[in-house]
Amino acid sequence: PAANSRKPDWLRVKLPIGEKYTNVRKIVDEYKLHTICQSGNCPNMGECWGEGTATFMILGNVCTRSCTFCAVATGRPNEYDEDEPRRVADAIQLMKVKHAVITSVNRDELKDKGAEIWYQTVRAVKETTPLTTIETLIPDVKANWDALIRMIEGGQEVVSHNMETVERLYRFVRPQAKYARSLEQIKRTKEFGKRNKSGIMLGLGETQDEVLKAMDDLVENGLDVLTLGQYLQPTKMHHEVIEWIHPDTFAMYKEEGLKRGLAYVESGALVRSSYHAEKHI
Ligand code: SF4
Ligand code: SF4
Repeated sequence: PAANSRKPDWLRVKLPIGEKYTNVRKIVDEYKLHTICQSGNCPNMGECWGEGTATFMILGNVCTRSCTFCAVATGRPNEYDEDEPRRVADAIQLMKVKHAVITSVNRDELKDKGAEIWYQTVRAVKETTPLTTIETLIPDVKANWDALIRMIEGGQEVVSHNMETVERLYRFVRPQAKYARSLEQIKRTKEFGKRNKSGIMLGLGETQDEVLKAMDDLVENGLDVLTLGQYLQPTKMHHEVIEWIHPDTFAMYKEEGLKRGLAYVESGALVRSSYHAEKHI
């Protein structure tokens, strides 16, 4: 059964207004870039964009996958824009971003899964603004480990790959992904020597034991940083919100994660994997 459709008070957020917000919006439009903030209807846009940060989404805004929580359009992508790395780098420079978060759609139809554009984007940012640290939230490479290495060898400081949910719910939430394969991707990222981050959404019907088991699995596979946030339904067509997770429960998970040896846990209703990302590089 779905949760009461009325959002609890702790999910109320500030409206996106202000000069900095407008400036970010202008740059994103001018450089013809996509952001997951907009595509995902993120509730934190007022705060993040107001502080001059945004999460760029590269490789287009049409995804080959159909995760049931995600507002990005599913279809056959036709965008392969070799100039995109440069525009992302220019926008980051213009926005004076200190810690840039970059993500992408899944490009399962490409042989290299988009790895070359990923690499070029990281390089372009590093060359344009060498002091900007970079966090790349990368897709499931479907066990194409050469693609994984290309995606993460450009010099970024942090590599994220979101588990999104517990193992039992994968087929309802990430139907084209596999729990064990995502864990292996995280393990290989760690073996390559990268700071490793992942995120789980709560409120999709998972039990507390299942969340703790996912934490154990992540720790075992070399995770450093974990984010936990409340799932919000982007439209009525998407997966229902089964539960509103109470702030005390988020606090409990944070404690459990730290107890398990994670270096950093960001846990709260409004937490997204790119939220406060600059705090734990
Ligand atoms: Fe964008 Fe992430 Fe901030 Fe949301 S939390 S507005 S997706 S940077
Ligand atoms: Fe959305 Fe990423 Fe899933 Fe594509 S792979 S549908 S962008 S969550």
